[in-house]
Amino acid sequence: MTTLEFDNRFVRELPADPEPSPNVRQVHGACYSRVMPTPVSAPRLIAWSREVAETLGFDEADIHSPEFAQVFSGNALLPGMEPYAACYGGHQFGNWAGQLGDGRAITLGESINSAGERWELQLKGAGPTPYSRRADGRAVLRSSIREFLCSEAMHHLGVPTTRALCIVGTGEAVVRDMFYDGRPAAEPGAVVCRVAPSFIRFGNFEILSARGDEGLLTQLVDFTISRDFPELTGSPQTRRTDWFHAVCERTARLMAHWMRVGFVHGVMNTDNMSILGLTIDYGPYGWIDNFNLGWTPNTTDASERRYRFGNQPRIAQWNLLQLGNALYPAFGEVEPLQDGLSRYATVYEEESRRMLADKLGLAAFRDGDGALVETLYELLTRAEVDMTIFFRGLGSMDPKVPSLEPLRDAFYAEETIAHEGEAFNAWLAQYAARVREDGIPLEQRRARMNAANPRYVLRNYLAQEAIDAAEQGDDTLIFELLDVMRRPYEDQPGRERFAAKRPDWARNRAGCSMLSCSS
Ligand code: AMP
Ligand code: MG
Ligand code: MG
Repeated sequence: MTTLEFDNRFVRELPADPEPSPNVRQVHGACYSRVMPTPVSAPRLIAWSREVAETLGFDEADIHSPEFAQVFSGNALLPGMEPYAACYGGHQFGNWAGQLGDGRAITLGESINSAGERWELQLKGAGPTPYSRRADGRAVLRSSIREFLCSEAMHHLGVPTTRALCIVGTGEAVVRDMFYDGRPAAEPGAVVCRVAPSFIRFGNFEILSARGDEGLLTQLVDFTISRDFPELTGSPQTRRTDWFHAVCERTARLMAHWMRVGFVHGVMNTDNMSILGLTIDYGPYGWIDNFNLGWTPNTTDASERRYRFGNQPRIAQWNLLQLGNALYPAFGEVEPLQDGLSRYATVYEEESRRMLADKLGLAAFRDGDGALVETLYELLTRAEVDMTIFFRGLGSMDPKVPSLEPLRDAFYAEETIAHEGEAFNAWLAQYAARVREDGIPLEQRRARMNAANPRYVLRNYLAQEAIDAAEQGDDTLIFELLDVMRRPYEDQPGRERFAAKRPDWARNRAGCSMLSCSS
């Protein structure tokens, strides 16, 4: 198999647990613990991303070699791999949760590809680590397919995200202490190899700060800047300030993207927030079908709905505030941190205005346009209208002849067209008048809108269909979905069914619109 080059800076430059233990303990003076993946009985390659494989430097022959499934199930290491689990803490659902750590993820190493890019390879579901607490460190096939497909779909949608190389089935059953869709709790197990320039989370800094380890906190800050933000220059103090501002800006851009495509993360705990501003940790996430800012797929969050669609930008800022608090000892002054949080607000505002202008096909977002958007959101929610289909359809509407006709398909219930048709027509007339003021040629406006409004998103029920088939041994739908999601902004003839709104059977089905944290 092709050999990769590893430089493993994380383990080279940062301290390991000085008292390595396979058991869960509070880890002091360290950023990680060395740990080996636990072998599995019958690894079988289920799916892979050819783009990620190519980025890393693997060719077709590598992918299909028996060694590939061995390595990416955790049964073997490639030369240069030095596995470890990272130590981090986090705020979960608004409360400090103490030490968490990689309980079911094991980093294999940091590879440097032929373009000089750093790609960290991490297995999810490869067995217990010193941070596994009460669980087994394993992952079920359904969650692995969800992470694999969604992270690749997000990438092709232009949303910053971790990537996924492959899914390997373990040949072993995983027992979950929950009932899923009325079936028994034993499910097929799998391992995902996920890939990103860095998996450092807000929680990696928070844990060091919580322990009062200012020396190591500062070391991790400077390490992160040096490894992951090499574009920052100047004195250490300047670079730290610029770095925090960059983290705030990236997070703001990420939130604008999630709101644009209708992605709901589901568990925006600070241990699930990437320092690079990437979407990370695909668990009980979901995609908006009928537009609703109050929706969350996470059943664990069903009453408070802290992580609902429309609350994500506010939660991201709250999470940055926790990061800022944690970083204070390394900064020694509060101003750069406060400035960062204001940067977040400013950049989110700018980005979301730009995003809305793109989605609506306006030359620029004006202050008066806020009311137009608010009315639209109210209507879409009340009438249960599909977000993706509606915005895509709006791009084809000729502002000279505003009409609800081309948008009928976006409604979940025929009756609501009768009830709400008038209100929609009034809105469309107002919107069309606004569009006419800009005077952008129809084709140009449509092209711009189509680049912001995907035709295809990884609807929850589509992923579930791929899961159902894969659990019966048929992996073809995983590849077909992956392929559809490669070009989400293009109309793909013959693939209309992947752009269809959620069918009725999927409305309240587990896996399709409701998921728990262990997803
Ligand atoms: P998550 O909700 O996936 O972000 O996980 C929160 C914490 O629980 C992290 O520290 C995970 O490593 C840990 N965790 C989640 N699932 C498992 C599992 N199956 N085995 C061990 N630890 C887990
Ligand atoms: Mg997590
Ligand atoms: Mg998770």
